[in-house]
Order: sequence, then C-alpha cells, then structure tokens
Amino acid sequence: MKEYDVIVVGAGPAGIPAARSSAEIGAKTLLIEKNQTIMAQKPCGEATSLSTFNDMGLDPKPYIVLQKVRNRVYAPNGKYLDLGIEALSINKTMYLQELALKAAEAGAEIHVKERVDGIVYKGGVMEVKTTNEVYRAKVVIGADGYNSTVARSLGITEKSEPIPTVIYLMVNVDLEDPDVAKFFIGTTIAPKGYAWIFPKSEGVAEVGVGVRGGQAKYYLDKFVEQHRDELGKAQIIDYRGALVPIGGMIENNVGDGFILIGDAAGTVIPLTGAGIHSSGVAGLIAGEVAGRAALEGDSSKQRLLEFRKRYEDPWGERIKKSLKAMRALESLTDDEFNMLVDILSDEDVVNLASGINLSATAKKLLRHPKLALKFARSLL
Ligand SMILES: Cc1cc2nc3c(=O)[nH]c(=O)nc-3n(C[C@H](O)[C@H](O)[C@H](O)COP(=O)(O)OP(=O)(O)OC[C@H]3O[C@@H](n4cnc5c(N)ncnc54)[C@H](O)[C@@H]3O)c2cc1C
Repeated sequence: MKEYDVIVVGAGPAGIPAARSSAEIGAKTLLIEKNQTIMAQKPCGEATSLSTFNDMGLDPKPYIVLQKVRNRVYAPNGKYLDLGIEALSINKTMYLQELALKAAEAGAEIHVKERVDGIVYKGGVMEVKTTNEVYRAKVVIGADGYNSTVARSLGITEKSEPIPTVIYLMVNVDLEDPDVAKFFIGTTIAPKGYAWIFPKSEGVAEVGVGVRGGQAKYYLDKFVEQHRDELGKAQIIDYRGALVPIGGMIENNVGDGFILIGDAAGTVIPLTGAGIHSSGVAGLIAGEVAGRAALEGDSSKQRLLEFRKRYEDPWGERIKKSLKAMRALESLTDDEFNMLVDILSDEDVVNLASGINLSATAKKLLRHPKLALKFARSLL
C-alpha cells in the first residue's frame, strides 16, 4: 500500500493550491482527480479578481485572463449601479492548469482519471480507496466539490444550503457594453438569487441564473427572451447546471485525519456565489496545516483545527457576514430592491456582497423607515 503524508481529493480551485502548499513544506503529497483532464468541467462564470492571482502567487497571464470587466447591478425597474471594482474574466481551465504546474513544481504527485470511491479511518491513518489502488495517508483533504465523496465516506452529513444554477454559453451576442458584467436582481427575474450576463470574448457571453424555490431553466429562458436586444440572434453552444453552496461554511469540516474545503465545505461567498478566491485561500491554508500536522505525526482534529483559526480572519468572517446580507435581502420586494439601488452607493453594494463593513451600510439604511425595519436591522 503506497503511503503519503497528505492526500488531496479533487483538482479544482480548492484542491490544487492545497496540494501545492502541502508539498511546499516537504510533506509527501498526492492529488487525485477523477476526470481525465484537469480543467473547468463544472459550469462557472469564471470571474474573479486580481487579488485571487496575488494570493495564489500566479501571474495574470494573457492566456488566463480573457478580459477585464466592470461590474453593474440592475434593479428590477432597470436602474443600475456601476460598481467601482474591476473583475477579471478568466479561462478557468488555463487557471487550473497553471495552478497544477505550481503544485507539480512544489513536488506534489498528480493522478488524473482516478476516482476516490471511499475512505476509512483506521488506527489513526486514512485508507483511501480509488478506482486504481488503496493508499494510506496521515491526512486527507476533501476538495471534491458539493457532492463530496470524502465527506460522505467519513459520515459528514451536514451540507451548506445550495442554490441551483444554470448557464448558457452563447455566441453571436450583441452586447451593448462588451466590457461590463451585468447582475440582475428581483423577485420575478431570479427569486432569492440573481441572473447574469458575463462577456467572454467578442460576440460570446455566459448567461446564467441561480434561483431558489423555482425552476432555474424556466427563469433563464425567460431572462434570455427579455434581453432580445442583446441575445436575440445568439445561439447556445453550452448548457449546463450545478449547485452552488451558499449557506456558509459547515461546522464539521475538520475531524481526526481530515479537512474539507471549497464547495465540499461551503467556503463560498454566499451573496455572490463566488468560490474561486475563497476556496483557493482555504486550499493554501489547509494544505500547509495538513502537511505540518502529518510531518509532526499529529493528525488529530485538535491539531487540524488550526485551519479554522487561520481561515476565520478574514474569510470565515466574510462568509458569515455575506450570508447575513443574503438572508436580509431574501425577504425584499421588487419595490424595496428598487429603493435600495437608489439609496446605496457602489461601495455599499460591494461591501454587502463581500461581507465587509455591514454596520456602516446598515446605519445608512436605518434612516429609511421601510428598509430600516425589514433590512437594516438584520444587518446589525
Ligand atoms: C454556474 C456557476 C457559476 C459560478 N460562477 C463563479 C464565478 O464567476 N466566480 C467564482 O469565483 N465562483 C463561481 N462559482 C463557484 C465556483 O465555481 C466554485 O465555488 C469553485 O469551483 C469551487 O471549487 P472546488 O475546488 O471546491 O470544487 P469543484 O470546482 O467542484 O472541484 C472539485 C473537483 O473534485 C473532483 N472530484 C469530485 N469527486 C471526486 C472523486 N470522488 N475523486 C476524485 N476527484 C473528484 C471534480 O472532478 C473536480 O475537479 C460558480 C459556480 C457555478 C455552479
């Protein structure tokens, strides 16, 4: 039976940085991916920020970054707010492959086309059964997405609340502002979620919705129909759906011999559904903690809880606050959304979405009788 200090399951935005940081400190590390290629198989808006690249120690090379985009939020009445932050529309496959290069350079062993089928904790060691072999590891990092096999095998039944999403990649779109990523909120547009149009390249855009309490595909088709001016001549070349965990980080993502990260643990910013950055940072921290714990010969839950302590500030906090903002928004009517877009500044919207400085935004809204009761108080 081959033995490793750390086995990372899943080569996505969370798992690859985990394998890299574990290998970097000298832990014998194996990264296992069930797909035959490390690439962006799951649907994703593929938008992130420059700080993601900084935190991952990657250059935002031209073959990874498709274009810089401005962000704009539309109220149900069509009024909009331009946000002062720039996002990067990336080629996520190239991003993941560049991360994999770093992991390999650090000394991590990478196996593709090998699926982990089960894990058993035996005598202080993890036995990892795959389609090819059985391995032993001191610590397993579960970065295998929302339907995590690692979590299931280890009896973790707690799951972050999901939002179903569907996307169309469309060609022959005729975007009015080809450098603007548009977000649309409203109870009839996307109940308890949002719709989006993300420009990808000339004539190409991803159009998607996430909704709770309704059929995502129904809302997406309605949305496309309502945006005939930009999407009327477009053709769909990719149609996929997936769940995004937006209910915050689960309580039990650390145990004896394991750490769950990324979508498997709910390390996604709830209000935006963005997980590339927050999962990547979770990966880097988890890999280092797991690697050190394994080298020290102590892979107990107590030792691995260092992950939670280090992730809490700022990411754990941000996830909790963004969840609070999301819960507060859930009960708003379209009229109240319209009011909100009139009152809030672009900075307030960015803070709400990212879970930063909520009290300042709440204080501003307290002056507005309707929103004070229903929205502002729940932010405090
Ligand atoms: C429609 C949609 C749009 C999104 N848009 C954005 C966006 O624009 N920006 C953003 O930041 N985030 C976005 N997200 C969220 C983001 O995609 C995820 O949060 C992020 O990919 C999570 O990374 P992960 O590594 O935890 O999981 P995943 O990306 O799910 O990766 C898990 C990996 O594990 C592998 N795996 C699974 N099971 C096994 C097994 N048993 N054995 C071996 N390997 C296994 C999978 O093949 C996969 O490669 C979006 C999500 C969706 C669904």
